[in-house]
Amino acid sequence: MATTLTQTKKIDTKQVEEALDEVLSNFKCPFSGHRSWTIIDELVTITPWIEGIVPDHSYPAVMLACNGCGYVALFSAIKLGLVSPDAESVNA
Ligand SMILES: [Zn+2]
Repeated sequence: MATTLTQTKKIDTKQVEEALDEVLSNFKCPFSGHRSWTIIDELVTITPWIEGIVPDHSYPAVMLACNGCGYVALFSAIKLGLVSPDAESVNA
């Protein structure tokens, strides 16, 4: 079953904070140097670019936005344990 725009996957930002605890304490924005980040509470997807076709799979990610300049950083939701590697959304 395909996921529609109204079925976004909300995430528990506390779970992300715990998973990234060590990373976030040292994570400095490469552009502005700020160390304050907002964890966006919805998963996003990264799709591969394949010339001429719509990809049949995507990679779920957690998005963090720098509170200084808005730079966006992505982390694998699978590696953070938020999405199962076998999840339907990974191989739609
Ligand atoms: Zn920044």
